[in-house]
Amino acid sequence: TPRATPKQLQFKLVLLGESAVGKSSLVLRFVKDQFDDYRESTIGAAFLTQTVKLDEQTQVKFEIWDTAGQERYKSLAPMYYRNANCAVVVYDITQPQSLEKAKSWIRELQRQADPNIVIALAGNKADLATTRRAVPREEAERYAEEEKLLFLETSAKDSTNVSELFALIARKLPLES
Ligand code: GDP
Repeated sequence: TPRATPKQLQFKLVLLGESAVGKSSLVLRFVKDQFDDYRESTIGAAFLTQTVKLDEQTQVKFEIWDTAGQERYKSLAPMYYRNANCAVVVYDITQPQSLEKAKSWIRELQRQADPNIVIALAGNKADLATTRRAVPREEAERYAEEEKLLFLETSAKDSTNVSELFALIARKLPLES
Protein backbone atom coordinates (compact mmCIF):
# COMPACT_ATOMS: atom_id res chain seq x y z
CA THR A 1 0.00 0.00 0.00
CA PRO A 2 1.30 3.48 -0.82
CA ARG A 3 2.48 5.56 2.12
CA ALA A 4 1.08 9.04 2.68
CA THR A 5 4.53 10.44 3.35
CA PRO A 6 7.65 8.97 1.81
CA LYS A 7 10.19 7.67 4.26
CA GLN A 8 13.29 9.79 4.47
CA LEU A 9 16.63 8.25 5.29
CA GLN A 10 19.65 10.36 6.19
CA PHE A 11 23.21 9.62 5.25
CA LYS A 12 26.42 11.43 5.94
CA LEU A 13 28.57 12.03 2.86
CA VAL A 14 32.11 13.37 2.82
CA LEU A 15 34.01 14.86 -0.13
CA LEU A 16 37.74 14.27 -0.32
CA GLY A 17 40.41 15.08 -2.87
CA GLU A 18 43.19 17.43 -3.79
CA SER A 19 42.58 21.16 -3.63
CA ALA A 20 41.00 22.70 -6.77
CA VAL A 21 39.72 19.46 -8.31
CA GLY A 22 36.18 20.83 -7.97
CA LYS A 23 34.77 19.35 -4.73
CA SER A 24 32.94 22.53 -3.70
CA SER A 25 31.79 23.08 -7.28
CA LEU A 26 30.26 19.58 -7.44
CA VAL A 27 28.38 20.26 -4.21
CA LEU A 28 27.22 23.67 -5.45
CA ARG A 29 25.97 22.08 -8.69
CA PHE A 30 24.23 19.25 -6.86
CA VAL A 31 22.64 21.37 -4.13
CA LYS A 32 21.90 24.66 -5.91
CA ASP A 33 22.37 23.81 -9.60
CA GLN A 34 24.88 26.64 -9.90
CA PHE A 35 28.47 27.02 -11.04
CA ASP A 36 30.96 29.76 -10.23
CA ASP A 37 34.27 30.21 -12.08
CA TYR A 38 35.79 32.26 -9.26
CA ARG A 39 34.81 30.40 -6.12
CA GLU A 40 36.80 31.01 -2.99
CA SER A 41 38.47 27.95 -1.48
CA THR A 42 36.75 26.08 1.29
CA ILE A 43 38.30 26.77 4.67
CA GLY A 44 38.21 23.75 6.96
CA ALA A 45 34.91 22.20 5.94
CA ALA A 46 31.45 23.25 4.78
CA PHE A 47 28.11 21.58 5.48
CA LEU A 48 25.11 21.37 3.15
CA THR A 49 22.15 19.04 2.70
CA GLN A 50 20.30 17.79 -0.36
CA THR A 51 17.48 15.30 -0.74
CA VAL A 52 17.21 12.80 -3.58
CA LYS A 53 13.97 11.05 -4.46
CA LEU A 54 14.74 7.38 -4.96
CA ASP A 55 11.17 6.28 -5.67
CA GLU A 56 7.62 7.23 -4.61
CA GLN A 57 8.22 5.79 -1.13
CA THR A 58 11.80 6.74 -0.44
CA GLN A 59 13.85 9.90 -0.10
CA VAL A 60 17.54 9.97 0.66
CA LYS A 61 18.78 13.04 2.49
CA PHE A 62 22.51 13.63 2.13
CA GLU A 63 24.32 15.58 4.83
CA ILE A 64 27.31 16.71 2.81
CA TRP A 65 30.65 17.57 4.38
CA ASP A 66 32.88 19.33 1.88
CA THR A 67 36.43 19.22 3.23
CA ALA A 68 39.24 21.57 2.31
CA GLY A 69 41.88 19.82 0.20
CA GLN A 70 44.88 21.71 1.52
CA GLU A 71 47.55 19.71 3.32
CA ARG A 72 47.22 21.87 6.43
CA TYR A 73 43.68 20.57 6.96
CA LYS A 74 44.55 16.93 6.32
CA SER A 75 44.55 16.02 10.00
CA LEU A 76 40.89 17.08 10.24
CA ALA A 77 39.69 14.63 7.59
CA PRO A 78 39.23 11.60 9.89
CA MET A 79 36.72 13.63 11.88
CA TYR A 80 34.59 13.88 8.75
CA TYR A 81 34.97 10.38 7.32
CA ARG A 82 34.90 8.49 10.61
CA ASN A 83 31.12 8.14 10.73
CA ALA A 84 30.40 8.85 7.07
CA ASN A 85 28.11 6.47 5.19
CA CYS A 86 29.51 7.49 1.85
CA ALA A 87 32.48 9.31 0.36
CA VAL A 88 33.04 11.02 -2.96
CA VAL A 89 36.73 11.12 -3.77
CA VAL A 90 37.38 13.62 -6.53
CA TYR A 91 40.23 14.06 -9.00
CA ASP A 92 40.63 16.36 -11.99
CA ILE A 93 40.91 14.57 -15.37
CA THR A 94 43.42 17.22 -16.51
CA GLN A 95 45.76 16.62 -13.51
CA PRO A 96 47.22 13.08 -13.24
CA GLN A 97 48.71 13.73 -9.79
CA SER A 98 45.19 14.44 -8.51
CA LEU A 99 44.27 10.80 -9.31
CA GLU A 100 47.29 9.64 -7.27
CA LYS A 101 46.06 11.83 -4.42
CA ALA A 102 42.56 10.35 -4.80
CA LYS A 103 44.02 6.84 -4.59
CA SER A 104 45.78 7.71 -1.36
CA TRP A 105 42.49 9.02 0.11
CA ILE A 106 40.80 5.80 -0.96
CA ARG A 107 43.49 3.67 0.72
CA GLU A 108 43.04 5.73 3.87
CA LEU A 109 39.25 5.25 3.77
CA GLN A 110 39.66 1.51 3.20
CA ARG A 111 41.87 1.31 6.29
CA GLN A 112 40.20 3.78 8.63
CA ALA A 113 36.58 4.41 7.67
CA ASP A 114 33.50 2.27 8.35
CA PRO A 115 33.97 -1.00 6.40
CA ASN A 116 30.49 -0.52 4.87
CA ILE A 117 31.21 2.97 3.54
CA VAL A 118 30.10 3.49 -0.07
CA ILE A 119 32.96 5.07 -1.99
CA ALA A 120 32.59 6.84 -5.34
CA LEU A 121 35.49 8.06 -7.44
CA ALA A 122 34.66 11.14 -9.54
CA GLY A 123 36.85 12.29 -12.42
CA ASN A 124 35.79 15.92 -12.54
CA LYS A 125 36.21 18.63 -15.23
CA ALA A 126 34.97 16.22 -17.92
CA ASP A 127 33.99 19.31 -19.95
CA LEU A 128 37.75 19.69 -20.63
CA ALA A 129 38.10 16.11 -21.96
CA THR A 130 38.57 17.01 -25.62
CA THR A 131 41.12 19.77 -25.03
CA ARG A 132 43.01 18.97 -21.84
CA ARG A 133 42.42 15.37 -20.77
CA ALA A 134 45.51 13.89 -19.09
CA VAL A 135 43.97 10.87 -17.34
CA PRO A 136 42.49 8.21 -19.68
CA ARG A 137 39.00 7.27 -18.62
CA GLU A 138 39.87 3.56 -18.92
CA GLU A 139 42.74 3.89 -16.44
CA ALA A 140 40.50 5.30 -13.70
CA GLU A 141 37.69 2.94 -14.62
CA ARG A 142 39.97 -0.11 -14.27
CA TYR A 143 41.25 1.11 -10.90
CA ALA A 144 37.69 1.75 -9.66
CA GLU A 145 36.63 -1.72 -10.76
CA GLU A 146 39.56 -3.37 -8.96
CA GLU A 147 38.76 -1.46 -5.77
CA LYS A 148 34.98 -1.96 -6.13
CA LEU A 149 34.25 1.75 -6.22
CA LEU A 150 31.49 3.57 -8.04
CA PHE A 151 32.99 5.65 -10.83
CA LEU A 152 31.84 8.47 -13.09
CA GLU A 153 33.46 11.31 -14.95
CA THR A 154 31.64 14.50 -13.99
CA SER A 155 31.53 18.18 -14.80
CA ALA A 156 30.35 20.66 -12.21
CA LYS A 157 30.63 23.26 -14.98
CA ASP A 158 28.26 21.73 -17.56
CA SER A 159 26.41 19.42 -15.10
CA THR A 160 27.51 16.14 -16.71
CA ASN A 161 26.82 13.19 -14.39
CA VAL A 162 26.50 15.27 -11.21
CA SER A 163 22.99 14.21 -10.18
CA GLU A 164 23.79 10.75 -11.63
CA LEU A 165 26.74 10.44 -9.25
CA PHE A 166 24.61 11.07 -6.16
CA ALA A 167 21.84 8.82 -7.51
CA LEU A 168 24.34 5.97 -7.96
CA ILE A 169 25.45 6.42 -4.36
CA ALA A 170 21.86 6.60 -3.07
CA ARG A 171 21.09 3.27 -4.73
CA LYS A 172 24.06 1.61 -3.00
CA LEU A 173 23.10 2.73 0.51
CA PRO A 174 21.31 0.43 2.96
CA LEU A 175 17.67 1.55 2.65
CA GLU A 176 16.07 -0.93 5.03
CA SER A 177 15.55 0.31 8.59
P1 GDP B 1 37.89 22.33 -4.54
O1 GDP B 1 39.09 23.05 -3.96
O2 GDP B 1 38.20 20.90 -4.84
O3 GDP B 1 36.65 22.50 -3.74
O4 GDP B 1 37.64 22.98 -6.00
P2 GDP B 1 36.64 24.18 -6.40
O5 GDP B 1 35.24 23.70 -6.43
O6 GDP B 1 36.96 25.37 -5.57
O7 GDP B 1 37.10 24.41 -7.92
C1 GDP B 1 38.42 24.79 -8.25
C2 GDP B 1 38.44 25.49 -9.60
O8 GDP B 1 38.05 24.58 -10.63
C3 GDP B 1 37.43 26.66 -9.68
O9 GDP B 1 38.02 27.70 -10.48
C4 GDP B 1 36.23 26.06 -10.39
O10 GDP B 1 35.49 27.04 -11.08
C5 GDP B 1 36.91 25.06 -11.34
N1 GDP B 1 36.04 23.91 -11.63
C6 GDP B 1 35.37 23.14 -10.74
N2 GDP B 1 34.68 22.18 -11.36
C7 GDP B 1 34.92 22.32 -12.68
C8 GDP B 1 34.48 21.60 -13.85
O11 GDP B 1 33.73 20.63 -13.81
N3 GDP B 1 34.97 22.05 -15.06
C9 GDP B 1 35.81 23.12 -15.16
N4 GDP B 1 36.21 23.46 -16.38
N5 GDP B 1 36.24 23.80 -14.08
C10 GDP B 1 35.79 23.41 -12.86
